[in-house]
Parts: sequence; structure tokens; C-alpha cells
Amino acid sequence: MVSSVWEIESWVDEVASTAIKRFYPTALSRNISLPLSDIFSHLLRLVEQNKLRLYWEIRCPECFTTVQVQDSYVTSGEELECPLGHEFELRVEYLFPVFEVSDTYKSYILGSKKKLQNGILRRENMVP
Ligand SMILES: [Zn+2]
Repeated sequence: MVSSVWEIESWVDEVASTAIKRFYPTALSRNISLPLSDIFSHLLRLVEQNKLRLYWEIRCPECFTTVQVQDSYVTSGEELECPLGHEFELRVEYLFPVFEVSDTYKSYILGSKKKLQNGILRRENMVP
């Protein structure tokens, strides 16, 4: 179980070192054998550590087009209209979580990869 949590963290670190900015929690469930709810709650921990940010996409219930993205899990019951003209009242089930790698963590990962390669692999650090 602990190793699955490590897998989540390496997955996120891997993503942070690429051009990918946002991802859905379901993307991890394809590679990691944990229930989606466990993956989600661990990703929330990474949000607390400022590695990730959590956003909510509002999707049209008719055509699933993303209508807008907000940073809070709030439904005001407002009337929305998707680009294709479907009108709907905002409900919780039309909100989908999306995670974004924070800029600070992205640059940390990119910088630390180089620093580690240059530093750790020095001969004097090797234990014979
Ligand atoms: Zn629509």
C-alpha cells in the first residue's frame, strides 16, 4: 500500500518534469492499482504541500463540453449555457476535479533534476 502512494508521487513528479500542466485523477488510475478515492485523497495532500492546485471543471450535462473552470467546489445554482447552446442549472454532478502542477513545483523539479544529477553521482558520494 505504501508503495502505491510512492507511485502516485513519482507519477506527479514525472508529469511535473514534462510540458503537461493539468491532469485528471482518472489518468493515474490507469497505471496505479488504488481506488480512485484513495488516489484523490493523496492528490489533495499534494495540494496542501503546494505541489498541486485543484480546480473544478464545469461540464455541460448534454455534450460534456467544459463550460468554465473554477477554483472552488461551489455551486450557486446558477444557469449556464455551453458553447453549443445547451442551458443547464449548475449542480454538483457537473463538477469535475482537475489538478494542475504548481509553477513553483514544476520549476523545482526541473531544477533539482539537474542539480541532483550533477551532485549525487559524484564519485565521493559512492559507497563502495
Ligand atoms: Zn452542451
